[in-house]
Parts: sequence; structure tokens; C-alpha cells
Amino acid sequence: MNATAHHVAAEAERLLRSLMHVDCDPRGKTWNYEACLAIAPLTLEINELKKDRGAVILAHSYLEPEIIYGVADFRGDSYFLSLKARELRAPVILFAGVVFMAETAKILSPAATVIVPDRDSGCSLADALTGDQLRQLKSLYPDATVVCYINSTAEVKAASDVCVTSGNVYAIVEKLPARRILFVPDRLMGDNLRTEMKRRGVDKEIITADGTCMVHDQFTPTDITAARQRYPGLLVVAHPECPPAVAAAADFVGSTGAMMKYVKTTGAPYYLMLTECGLVGRLQVESPEKAFVGGCRLCPYMKLNSLEKIRDALKSPRPDQIITLPEDVRQRAAHCLEQMFALSPAD
Ligand code: SF4
Repeated sequence: MNATAHHVAAEAERLLRSLMHVDCDPRGKTWNYEACLAIAPLTLEINELKKDRGAVILAHSYLEPEIIYGVADFRGDSYFLSLKARELRAPVILFAGVVFMAETAKILSPAATVIVPDRDSGCSLADALTGDQLRQLKSLYPDATVVCYINSTAEVKAASDVCVTSGNVYAIVEKLPARRILFVPDRLMGDNLRTEMKRRGVDKEIITADGTCMVHDQFTPTDITAARQRYPGLLVVAHPECPPAVAAAADFVGSTGAMMKYVKTTGAPYYLMLTECGLVGRLQVESPEKAFVGGCRLCPYMKLNSLEKIRDALKSPRPDQIITLPEDVRQRAAHCLEQMFALSPAD
């Protein structure tokens, strides 16, 4: 075996140690040694390119496992990755996720070249509200504090008072002095927020925009009832982008990070994850002793990422793959994010 073949074999072994646990690959892929060997030259090439370019790869947990475990330097949810983008000071950040996340990285790391593998990786939620539409809404509620979910465009962040994530939204809104809150763009998370404020005895009027996540919007209470009948002892874990009726019927509702922590620290015979399938893949790798029943859904935008596109974008990014923002928008959006970091409770 020559040196190159040896390196490729070693890389395939490295990949296999993680990927062998994934049995919910939506493409029906079986992650055996041959499958890992087939992608090993590409992951080696990408990891070399990263070194040459001084680049780091941030990957959202909803991506395919060969990206998360093959080439990502950091993996996690929007909040974790936005903190990483802020602290890294890397000259090049490749954001494997969707465009609003890469925009967030650019807002927080203005000196970095931030690139995306596919410019069409939008988001049904972020793309539901433009900056102009938000300004119109604000004119209807001039006394409201504007709270935007991190799943929003840079323009929307720039026109908002404070940003939140699914992990800190309740704590931050509870702390805000204003009674009237204009929460954008997620209607369903806004509904869940209204319910939670009532439950906590906090007097807030929550006005919402009309965006939804096309993945979490699909779950229904019937999914939960059917799964509970089939799998006794099942724990149902949902994301707050799900409809309120689904959140009410779940055993646990929390951010991507909180969902992972909940699964890792509980001991049920089965779990139903009402979220994107990529997160189930991560849990299968990091908690291989747990059993997950089907039911997760795919985000077509996240799935536009691929190892080939990551390699090409690192080698020679096209202009449309490089995130640029007008400086005034970036600065106002940065202020909105910094407000979140200041108000976010310590973990
Ligand atoms: S899972 Fe939903 S919120 Fe996340 S990128 Fe896809 S459409 Fe947007």
C-alpha cells in the first residue's frame, strides 16, 4: 500500500468510528467501511484546504453526518455557532448551514471572509419577513419592543431591538421591561412564547409575524399519539418551532442543544425526535446506546450542502458564495445580537 492509499484507509477508519452509528440516513446510505472509503479522499482534500486557507468550518447539527463528522471544526445550533464565529477570529469561515447563519457569522466577524457552499440554502422562516415588511409592522406597534428570532435575515436583525434563540427566548423576553413584544418572524414560536409567559405569570402581549419553519410546522399531535401507542415508555422531544398543540403533547420542548442534553441525560427505551433528521444522526453518533423511532423530517435547504460544494467553495469561492453586507446593516444587526449576548442567561 503506498502512502496515499495508507492515508485514505486511515481516514476511512476515522470516519467509520463516527458514522457507523448512523442508521437514519435519509438517503438510505449504510455507513460501512466501503462507504467511508469512498468519501475519504474528499474529506482529506477538504481538511488540507482548510489548513492552506486558514479556514474553519462551522456546521449546523441538521447537516448530513459526513459533513458534521468528516470536515466540521465546530458543530452545533445557531447560538453555539454564532458564539464561535464571534470568538474565532479566523480569516475564512465556511458556514455549512443556511444563508442567514452565514450572515450572522459575517455580522459578528466582519474581518473574516465568510462563505457558503450553496447560495440557494435559504430558510422558509427567515425568508418569510423582509426588512421592509418588518418596518411596516413596527409602524403599527410603535411602542413594542421588537424581538427577532435568530432565524432571520441580517436586514430583520438590523431593524430589531434584540435577537433571541430557541434556547434563551423565554428568559430574555421575561426580562424585557416592555409589556408589548413584537416577535418575528416565527408565528408558532411566538404562540409557544405567549403560552410560556402565561404559565410563568408574566404579563406580556405577544404580537407575531406569520413565518413558520417548513420542517417543524409539519408535526401533528396525531404523530405523537400513534408513536406512544406503538412504543411504550417513549419520550417525545420537540423543538419550540413546532405548533403549540405538538409542544403541549411532548415530554420535553427545547432548543437543539437542550434536546440533545435531555436525550443524553434521560433513560427512556425509545425517543421520538420532532425535529430535523440531522439531529437524530448526531445523537446516534454521540449516544449510540439510545433508540430513536422514525418521525424526523428533512430540511431541503440544509440538504443543499455537500462535501463537493464545500471543497469547491474552499478552493475558489464564486462571488455569490461570499457573504457581503452593507456596513450600516451589519452594525445595527451586530447591536441586536450583542443585546442578546448581554441578556442571555449563563448556561
Ligand atoms: S429547519 Fe426550518 S428553520 Fe431550520 S433552516 Fe430549515 S426551514 Fe429554516
